[in-house]
Amino acid sequence: MAIDLRSDTVTKPSDAMRAAMAAAPVGDDVYGDDPTVNSLEERVAAMFGHEAGLFTPTGSLANQLAIRTLVKPGEELLVETRSHIVRAELGAAATFSGITTRTWPTADGSLRAEDPLAIAHENAGPYLVSTTAIAVENTHNFGGGTVQPLSEIEKLSSAAHARGIAMHLDGARIWNAHIASGVSFAEYGKHFDTISVCLSKGLGAPIGSVMLSNKSRVAEARIWRKRYGAGMRQVGIIAAAGHYALENNIARLAQDHARAKKIATALHGLDSSLIDPVKVETNIVGLELSKIGITAAALTSQCKEAGLWISALGPHYARLVTHLDFDDNQCDEAIAILTKILKSALVAK
Ligand SMILES: *Cc1c(COP(=O)(O)O)cnc(C)c1O
Repeated sequence: MAIDLRSDTVTKPSDAMRAAMAAAPVGDDVYGDDPTVNSLEERVAAMFGHEAGLFTPTGSLANQLAIRTLVKPGEELLVETRSHIVRAELGAAATFSGITTRTWPTADGSLRAEDPLAIAHENAGPYLVSTTAIAVENTHNFGGGTVQPLSEIEKLSSAAHARGIAMHLDGARIWNAHIASGVSFAEYGKHFDTISVCLSKGLGAPIGSVMLSNKSRVAEARIWRKRYGAGMRQVGIIAAAGHYALENNIARLAQDHARAKKIATALHGLDSSLIDPVKVETNIVGLELSKIGITAAALTSQCKEAGLWISALGPHYARLVTHLDFDDNQCDEAIAILTKILKSALVAK
């Protein structure tokens, strides 16, 4: 069977997770009657020290509901150039909420508080766009699974709030950040006005994200979720997978990180321009191919023929993501396949 490292979204619910789903008490969540959904929302909110939570089918929707409670039409959200909110949500902030975005660039997604603060322009008056929120992605997906330094988050959050600018956390992989850094969820949570987290990435649930904030923003987001057509009925059957994931699949992320590091170290040994293993802090391995003599598309298709699925995210950038359906044997096999293909590319060069 093929080894699939295209994303940590490719995992299948385990038998134990499916059993938890089958046993879940349910009700009509549009009426607020689903006990499994209600307890999941309360549980995640409590983990991050927020007042309330809202279950959503996707992380994109959780992000979009969050930012629309912070930024009014015609106002501005600042985000890093390669963040999911601006690159992978199909312009939703503009399309649905009339939000304009402006970006600051980084080399590897790593947050430096001074970057957004330098371009922020709050209360900009009648001629210029006013900045009302800043979003931080942790870990940073297209940056290579980068863990954001807590000191920069603290600095940014306190300076932004002092200027009346709100803070949003795209925490699709905040679980990985927590495992890599040892920073608690509550510590991360206290620096942000709104948060989105995904249960369907590293934690292995089939579907589901949660948006967090205070009670009034969550109540507002609940109305917009229904308006967007994402009011769900006996969805405790899915929320139960989220409970199971939180109970069983957070600590084990350390294994995903170790396997990603092992792949990075092996490939660094082939050619140091491919990747710096020191920068592989979590479960994402981004390969820089510009000096290797193979395009990302060619590498991806040769890997696929050999039984390893990876992603080409740029002409010379390929990405591998480790996850809970990927074990040590598969890790050795993946390294062997990559080594063979990259070696012959290096010889041909
Ligand atoms: C996957 C992801 C999301 C949400 O994606 P959905 O596919 O909409 O669930 C949001 N932010 C980041 C950084 C992600 O990687």
